Amino acid sequence: MTGDYASIDVDALETAVDALDDTLTALDTLVAPLERDFEYFGVDTTHLKKLLAARDELTDVVPELRERHRLARQLLSEYASHPALGGGTVVGFEGDLLDDLELTHRADIAESIELLQAEGVIGEYATTMHREWISWTLQTGLTPADMVERARQEGVDQNTFDLLRDVTIWRTPDGRPYARIEDAGDAREIVRLIELLNGGTPSTTDERRDANSWSYSSLFGLRNGDVGLVLNNGGALVATPEGILMAAPGGKHLGIIPNTVDIFSARGGTMWGEIFVLNGSHDDPASILEDTITNGVPPPGSGAPSLERLLRHERVHAEQWARLGYTRFIWEYLTNGPSNPCEHPLEIEAGLADGGYRCSCGGGCGN
Ligand SMILES: [Zn+2]
Repeated sequence: MTGDYASIDVDALETAVDALDDTLTALDTLVAPLERDFEYFGVDTTHLKKLLAARDELTDVVPELRERHRLARQLLSEYASHPALGGGTVVGFEGDLLDDLELTHRADIAESIELLQAEGVIGEYATTMHREWISWTLQTGLTPADMVERARQEGVDQNTFDLLRDVTIWRTPDGRPYARIEDAGDAREIVRLIELLNGGTPSTTDERRDANSWSYSSLFGLRNGDVGLVLNNGGALVATPEGILMAAPGGKHLGIIPNTVDIFSARGGTMWGEIFVLNGSHDDPASILEDTITNGVPPPGSGAPSLERLLRHERVHAEQWARLGYTRFIWEYLTNGPSNPCEHPLEIEAGLADGGYRCSCGGGCGN
């Protein structure tokens, strides 16, 4: 959303709308009948016609102003629970209040919060994270009435998002939150929360995470799996909206994570279980991830149309890892012609265009 920032004094607007409404009523009830009389008596109606034109104008304007006032009033009630956002009766907004679809959305968020509070899901104050979760979830097509059931399904309560308070959040240009993982111990929970915050349903993807548990914990849970491996070798990790991780290796080689660049290049990175590992080694891996996210572009070297679509593609690979298991996935990948992604069943399933493969030139031309 772009546009000039503006503000409205809601009470002043209401007074103005009421006054105009009174004027309109007066013009309608008093002046309009005069038109017939003026014509009947042959009086010059020039000035009367100006008044009637004003009435027509007001007939259009007043309902629009009423709607603006209603929206501004909604915004104000939303601000009331957030003193930091403003005070008194003045509300700020971007662009044109009426053109602002965001406002309808804000009203839906406010309604969702009320319903969640009424059902005891959240307490008196919805946190910023709750609001953001509601916002992204509504954008997946849910209505405010659906939010209570979604909250129960995902176990949302007042403290659900507390873990995200102290983590670094990076956002794409359209506001999608990603979270940096700096401690392997809470990686899985942060990944679930970021998927949830973005409107996803981590309860439905836990099965995949269980099947790919080697990403998070090694045999017998003694180490922290590949997540720990990335962090312990100077790499950087983020939780993504797709509920998978994205990693940038540090300067050091990752050791037991095979360097697959030459085996099945995904042009930009390779999916290992739950982790999308960017190619190459990086002196400042965190800034590679931060730049990729904040610019909303695919990582360096990837031909994918967007970061969002690339991660969707990689998430399908995570599902394949889960379905086939570690050894079988690698076997299937290597025995189906990894040098020809356009005809590779696992790449086709993951979505060739999303992965950055341009195959319309007859197959085999790859990226
Ligand atoms: Zn792929």
